[in-house]
Amino acid sequence: MDPHDDNPLSRRQIVSGMATGIAAVVTGPAIAQGAASAASGAAPSPLGNPAEKYPKPPFPNQSQPWPGLAGKMQPRPDHGETSYRGSGRLAGRNALITGGDSGIGRAAAIAYAREGANVAINYLPAEEPDAREVVRLIQAAGRKAVALPGDIRSEAFCQRLVSDAVQQLGGLDILVNNAGRQQSHDSLTDISTEQFDWTMKTNVYAMFWITKAALAHLQPGSAIINTASVNAYDPSENLIDYAMTKAAIMNFTKGLAKQLAKQGIRVNGVAPGPFWTALQVSGGQTQEKLAKFGGDTPMGRPGQPAELAPVYVQLAAAEASYITGQIYGASGGRGNP
Ligand code: NAD
Ligand code: MG
Repeated sequence: MDPHDDNPLSRRQIVSGMATGIAAVVTGPAIAQGAASAASGAAPSPLGNPAEKYPKPPFPNQSQPWPGLAGKMQPRPDHGETSYRGSGRLAGRNALITGGDSGIGRAAAIAYAREGANVAINYLPAEEPDAREVVRLIQAAGRKAVALPGDIRSEAFCQRLVSDAVQQLGGLDILVNNAGRQQSHDSLTDISTEQFDWTMKTNVYAMFWITKAALAHLQPGSAIINTASVNAYDPSENLIDYAMTKAAIMNFTKGLAKQLAKQGIRVNGVAPGPFWTALQVSGGQTQEKLAKFGGDTPMGRPGQPAELAPVYVQLAAAEASYITGQIYGASGGRGNP
């Protein structure tokens, strides 16, 4: 069983049993209480103000060589390592997540594993320390973890990535195209052709190549989830090339959803606003913007990857069977969609 699963009934029984003796567990109020809790489906969690839940700017000055490591960030992002609780929503599924070592992809990987899915992650070789942590977390949830490092700017690698994932997982029914390249440039004239190509290859071509290769394996009921951005709708002046790719991801999501509906494959996207991840501290923002990161949202802070995990779970889950062609925004109270 998933050690992170926190069944409210059994926990109540254990607590009650410790306090009053085992006999009390099987009679009267303990059962009634437990049954009510199981019926509501929710473990009790304390109310709290989301605006105060996580760090706010100003953030300490920091810069890492690209692609950066979550493990070296100050403060460390929360990917749900100690908080995400599964309830079997993705039991038996097989998921491939690009950029699954850190940030939003890591939060999805942890949540998917705790929901019962086997998870393959792709990342760059330089990110091995972050990836090792994710592999350990997937395994601790009792699921199969497959680590597939490599550069998705190569079509041949993308094809190999999908076939290795299918082979090692034993199938594929959830694909999360999440890897991304974001570098801040104040002027269009600062973006070299090489940089432009790098951003396009990572964010657009790789999604096309990986999805195309995956289609041969996806059965009806499968789900594709693409990470877009608020930049798809409201481009930042310093992220022109990146924002173009995010608009393309949003558009690809909606078009492909129409094409695949009759095959029973759902395609959705997520459009995060500011999230505290390695991408932002490894060239994704200027130091000036990083210090104030997320401060201009109504929440007054950036999101933490853990706060997006339930969205990735929801879009993958079978209960969301009529949800396709949608983009789910998360910008702290402002922005699109
Ligand atoms: P992150 O740095 O933790 O994750 C991005 C990942 O992309 C890296 O971990 C890396 O493994 C992968 N990657 C980049 N280039 C690659 C390549 N050539 N080959 C293989 N893998 C490569 O940062 P994140 O913020 O979690 O980013 C995840 C996604 O979220 C990205 O698509 C990003 O554009 C998007 N996003 C992030 C924010 C934010 O504020 N952090 C906002 C909107 C959208
Ligand atoms: Mg990373």
